Amino acid sequence: MKTNILGFPRIGGHRELKKSLEKYWKKNSSYNELQQTAKLIRQENWKFQQELGVDLIPSNDFSYYDQVLDASLAYGCIPERYTELKNNGTTSDLYFAMARGIQTDKYDITAMEMTKWFDTNYHYIVPEFSKDQNFELFSSKAVDEFKEAKALGILTKPVLISPVTYLLIGKEKEAGFDRIDLLDKLLPVFFQQLVQLVVAGAEYIQLDEPCLSLDLNAKEKAAITKTYKKIAAEFPSLKIILTNYFGCYGDHLATALQLPVHALHIDLSRCPEQLDTILNAKFYNQKQILSLGIVDGRNIWKNDFEVSLIQLGKVLKKLPKENIWISTSCSLLHSPIDLNLETNEQTLPKEVKQWLAFAKQKVKEVCLLKKLLNGDVSDALLEKVAANKLANQNRKTSTLIHHNPTKKRVAQLTKNDSQRAATFTSRQLVQQKALNLPLFPTTTIGSFPQTKEVRKWRSQFKKNEISQAVYDQYIADETEETIRFQESTGIDVLVHGEFERNDMVEYFGEKLEGFAFSSYGWVQSYGSRCVKPPIIYGDVYRSAPMTVKWSTYAQSLTQKPVKGMLTGPVTILQWSFVRNDQPRATTCQQIAFAIRDEVVDLEKAGLQIIQIDEPAIREGLPLRKAAWETYLNWAIESFRISASGVKNDTQIHTHMCYSEFNDIIEHIAAMDADVITIETSRSKMELLDAFVNFKYPNEIGPGVYDIHSPRVPGTDEIAHLLTKANDVLPTRNIWVNPDCGLKTRDWPETKSALINLVNAAKKMRAKVSVEA
Ligand code: GLN
Ligand code: ZN
Repeated sequence: MKTNILGFPRIGGHRELKKSLEKYWKKNSSYNELQQTAKLIRQENWKFQQELGVDLIPSNDFSYYDQVLDASLAYGCIPERYTELKNNGTTSDLYFAMARGIQTDKYDITAMEMTKWFDTNYHYIVPEFSKDQNFELFSSKAVDEFKEAKALGILTKPVLISPVTYLLIGKEKEAGFDRIDLLDKLLPVFFQQLVQLVVAGAEYIQLDEPCLSLDLNAKEKAAITKTYKKIAAEFPSLKIILTNYFGCYGDHLATALQLPVHALHIDLSRCPEQLDTILNAKFYNQKQILSLGIVDGRNIWKNDFEVSLIQLGKVLKKLPKENIWISTSCSLLHSPIDLNLETNEQTLPKEVKQWLAFAKQKVKEVCLLKKLLNGDVSDALLEKVAANKLANQNRKTSTLIHHNPTKKRVAQLTKNDSQRAATFTSRQLVQQKALNLPLFPTTTIGSFPQTKEVRKWRSQFKKNEISQAVYDQYIADETEETIRFQESTGIDVLVHGEFERNDMVEYFGEKLEGFAFSSYGWVQSYGSRCVKPPIIYGDVYRSAPMTVKWSTYAQSLTQKPVKGMLTGPVTILQWSFVRNDQPRATTCQQIAFAIRDEVVDLEKAGLQIIQIDEPAIREGLPLRKAAWETYLNWAIESFRISASGVKNDTQIHTHMCYSEFNDIIEHIAAMDADVITIETSRSKMELLDAFVNFKYPNEIGPGVYDIHSPRVPGTDEIAHLLTKANDVLPTRNIWVNPDCGLKTRDWPETKSALINLVNAAKKMRAKVSVEA
């Protein structure tokens, strides 16, 4: 029996990598310093696992930015616009330019697209393929890291994204070919990489094939079979671990079971039911090892040993011990690192803490389960088992969890709760009268730059180093300055800037009941960006207004309309660690009612426009289509519950980013927001197609400024994007805005970009008035 860890967080327990990256990007440190930080993190991770006795320790699970971008670099899949940089610059300049874009005296190149990794909140850099795409072995990262660990005396298991998954999660950049047909060109390069790893001494390879949790067509399935057969033929003694996660093998099971691989990994926390199916499947080759992903890599609840032992017991009856590996369900990249760092009982009560396990604790759970199965009955071990049992029992019966009025409200939910009083067409008329906005109204998505100072004040306030009054004064000043800036720039619908908010979900979680918080529970979202998801452990309700104070303050400073700014129920759910003791839909409805109460209070306080952000609706989609309808029904209904308590002349906005909209456009329309702002600038308005084809009826702001890149778009560039939008959408329905919040940007670039944005809107107004 072996223990198998699929990947470990790489940001560092105190976000060392994040800090080091950002320092390097700001040119405050050398590449060498960044490399040193990275090396230390890798070492620490490997040593931690080695000391616990993990058998299969991953390498190449580290990345400076993203593991998919690493693969693109490894296979020389570098879009043409970077050619000059590739030929003349350093590899690190090239790498970060692909990730973030580059704007220097010499170069002005846009970044590659970014999108969410399956149904997680981790964003990867989307590989771009052209028709005559060629591959070459361009980087030796995987083998370098293998050798680095080997030099420390640790023989690791390199983790690679399988060629098929790599192709499928990428995008064709021109018409006329199917990216899966590039497999024949990619495989030889992939094999070169395998040769390097074998020569360096690798015995196992973890091939990540999460596309097996998706619907696949016959051609794609055939590509999988072909890949593994070829690997087996070329590398007969290499031990391949076919690693699917985030779902069931489902109808791909027969395919998977017939592949010539050493081990098959199954995600038992997402799909426990597949265990029986596999054990009883007629194709199941009992010589093949099963890697049982029994410790949840996606959530923070302690493993329930009692339940796990029942499952594992079933396997033990069928398979010899040597053929069983105990694993995490997926990479621990999606878990916070260390529960032991959590000492603040104010935000994470002791009672709740005992129900949790972070990455380090999960590795321990994996090791402990192996010992138990191996028949270890030492006192120390039995003590840990007893503690686990007690904690899990305690959670079931805790009084912290239940709030009856909330349960009742959800139980009594009716159709009226999710219905605005009038249709969009009549609402648009009364809103136009009430707001009197020009054509191409300009606005932003909510947050303004969160400077060092703002973050410093917040952390001082949290540590009780400054008083509430002093902190509030800082926030008030910053808000006022932002209002003045927006007024002077000529923006039409203002925002207060969200300076009082750390994070769009955490802020609300802290004010709602049923949530707990870690202090160091950071999880990587994209690049150096991390989020600290709240923990929903109990019934959710609102005990007091959450945003009314700052929104009304901002509105009091100006004659222009200020948008109230809220996070929607689906996004709060999606970006939190959610309790696993009731359906997600129920938790979402509870949150929806809490947000509705806030929307109504904002309206009462005089805000005419309220935005309910739902950037996470799409990532909540189940990976297989068959399950979409059920999810979308409760998700869209939840949004509507939150938005439907207001009068017709109150304008409800929503915002979404980094989403494909084509296949859910009907449901997005069913949200019935008066205005939707969406990301489009990285994909040059491609994302708008869905709205156009569907004849999306409501107002829409296609993002014209890519805020995930430090690059400032010019007035003509923005006007060009707007012209594209104006060609296909009714002019009166078009809004002008960045594609997301500005909190990660600096002030100077924000100012220049927004000035250009307002000028572009003016240009458009002039143009349409001439045309009229
Ligand atoms: N209102 C939020 C902001 O501007 C929206 C962020 C998001 O969509 N992720 O920061
Ligand atoms: Zn956004």
